[in-house]
Amino acid sequence: MTPLWIGALVTVLGACVGSFLNVCIYRLPRHESLMWPGSRCTRCARALSWYENVPVVSWVLLRGRCRTCREPVSWMYPIVEVITALTFLSGYLLYGISAIGAVRVLFACALIVLFVTDLQHKILPNVITVPGIVVGFVLSLFLPPGWRDSLIGIAIGGGTLFAIAEAYYRLRGLEGLGMGDVKLLAMIGAFLGWKLVLLTLVMASLSGSIIGVALIASKRGNLKYALPFGTFLAIGAVVSAAWGTPIVDWYFGFYQ
Ligand SMILES: [Zn+2]
Repeated sequence: MTPLWIGALVTVLGACVGSFLNVCIYRLPRHESLMWPGSRCTRCARALSWYENVPVVSWVLLRGRCRTCREPVSWMYPIVEVITALTFLSGYLLYGISAIGAVRVLFACALIVLFVTDLQHKILPNVITVPGIVVGFVLSLFLPPGWRDSLIGIAIGGGTLFAIAEAYYRLRGLEGLGMGDVKLLAMIGAFLGWKLVLLTLVMASLSGSIIGVALIASKRGNLKYALPFGTFLAIGAVVSAAWGTPIVDWYFGFYQ
């Protein structure tokens, strides 16, 4: 098969996985089963037929509405499917068909679900982050970043954010960061190792501050109502996974 065909197949597979991620995004915060029942309209509860379940295509053809009750179907569904498809394609372009490529794509899929659940419900489900820490560490026994880097990454990722959360709570008497953020950063450390988890934290804090200040300046909100921190951590982790290693090498080379 030519690389073009493999790329196309990987992208279609990504769109189908994106469809499953939508199920996770909807059901995990509601503590519903992922397997049963099959996809149905969230309003009239009619089971969807196969042609209403084709990623992206069905949403476009049905013009974003349920066929029976005309309930609008959120544009988040096709967006998640397109982003997952592009994630699969990027994984293929960056790593080819390889074990580390598959692991990084799996990691990105978990982050897509966490990004949307944090954005919509301010929830980072434990059923993803806690097994994510274990899976990231076990995979690092065989693949980069290696088990030592992974273990230090879990400790630094979880530990740093836990310390910041504690300090913030004592100083301000407010809960600025939740334990969900701590577990998410530990998971990122498990998959990416300690250098890239620090890069993730720096990027998330910087972009979070810039957007927070912009929101205050435009009087659209204050820091308390800014976007949840987990969304910034998820984006920072994807950027670190894809392009972090050259950035980190440059930084450490620069200070040697
Ligand atoms: Zn309906």
